[in-house]
Amino acid sequence: MTTAAPPTQISVNERNFRPQTLGDFIGQRQLKQTMQLMLYSAKTRKATLEHVAFFGGPGLGKTTLAAIIAHEANSRLHEIAAPSIGRPGDLASALTMLQPNDILFLDEIHALKRDSAETLYSAMEDFKVSIKLSKDSDPITMKVHPFTLIGSTTDFGLLPGPMRARFGHSFHLQPYTLDELVQIIERAAEKMGFFTEEEALQAIARRSRGTPRVALRLLRRCVDVAISSDEDFIDTELVEATMPILGLDALGLEEADRQYLAALIEIYRGGPAGLGAIAANAGLDMSTAKNIVEPALLLMGLVARTPRGRRVTRAGHKHHQTFAQSAASVNWNRIEAADQAAN
Ligand code: ADP
Repeated sequence: MTTAAPPTQISVNERNFRPQTLGDFIGQRQLKQTMQLMLYSAKTRKATLEHVAFFGGPGLGKTTLAAIIAHEANSRLHEIAAPSIGRPGDLASALTMLQPNDILFLDEIHALKRDSAETLYSAMEDFKVSIKLSKDSDPITMKVHPFTLIGSTTDFGLLPGPMRARFGHSFHLQPYTLDELVQIIERAAEKMGFFTEEEALQAIARRSRGTPRVALRLLRRCVDVAISSDEDFIDTELVEATMPILGLDALGLEEADRQYLAALIEIYRGGPAGLGAIAANAGLDMSTAKNIVEPALLLMGLVARTPRGRRVTRAGHKHHQTFAQSAASVNWNRIEAADQAAN
C-alpha cells in the first residue's frame, strides 16, 4: 500500500501525468540509455541533436518522450500532426519559422503526403526547403535553421526509405512490464491524492495491454468509482467491481478483442488465418486490428503468429470458452430474472 495526501484538488488530465525528465520516465531502459548518450554528445559538441524516430503502438509514450527530449535539450517543442499538413507549402512555412535547435515533433509521420515528405527530406539533410509558389513558377529555396525532427509512427515500415535513412536513430518502444505499469499508475494515483494497495495496482496493470495510456485510463475510471462512493482508497475489490462496468473481462479483453478471438476460433477453427480475413470477419478495421487488438492478444499469449498466419493458442482457446460460458450464464440469469419479474 502507498500513502498519499487525501484528495483535495483532483486533476485527471492526461498531461498532468507526463514525466518531465528521462529519469522520471519509467521503462524503455535501452532507449533511455541511448537517448541520454545522444543528448550528452550533442551538448558536448554544441551541436543540434540528430533527428530521431519513435515507433510503437498508441499510448506507449512517444509524445511524452518528445516533450522530455525538448526539456532535456533546453529546446522549444513544436508539435504538428502529419495528417493535418495539406500542402508542402504548409510544412515549408512551419520549417522556416523554426529557431536554431528547436524541435519539430511530427506525429503520425507515416501519413505525410509524398510531396510534403520530399520537402522534409531536404530540410532534414541540408536545412533548406524548395517550394514553388505557383504551378509554373521556378522553385524558390529558403534556409531553415538547424533543428531536430522527432518523427512518431505506429509502424516504421510505413515510412519511405529516404525518410528512414535520414533519422540519426530510430527507437522501437516496447510494451511495458507489469511492474513498470504498476509504478506508472502508483505515481499517478499519488498525484491524484488516492491511497492504493499493491494488488489493486496489479489488477489494473494486468488489464492494461502493456500500455501506460490504457493503465492510466483504467485508473481514472477506478478513481471515478472511488469518488462516487466517497472513498480515497483504491483496493482490489473496487478494481474488480469497476472492470466489468468498463466491459473488460478478467484478462482485460474488450469486445473488439473477443470478436477477433471468436472469428479466429469459430470461423477459421483456430487458424492459421490472415489478419485481413480475421479483421473482416470480426467487423474490425485493419488499423484497429493491427495496432490495437492484435498486439494485446500476442502480448497475452492468446494468439501466435506463424509463417502461415495467426493461430489461437491453448490459452486463447481456454479464455474464449470460459468467456462464452460466463456470457451464456449471465444471459441465462438475466432471462430468469426477467421471467420472475414478469410473474
Ligand atoms: P503516444 O504518443 O505513444 O501515443 P503518450 O506519450 O501520449 O503516448 O503517452 C500516453 C500517456 O501515458 C501519457 O499520459 C503519458 O504521460 C503516459 N506515459 C507513457 N509512457 C510513460 C512512462 N514511461 N512513464 C510514465 N508515464 C508514461
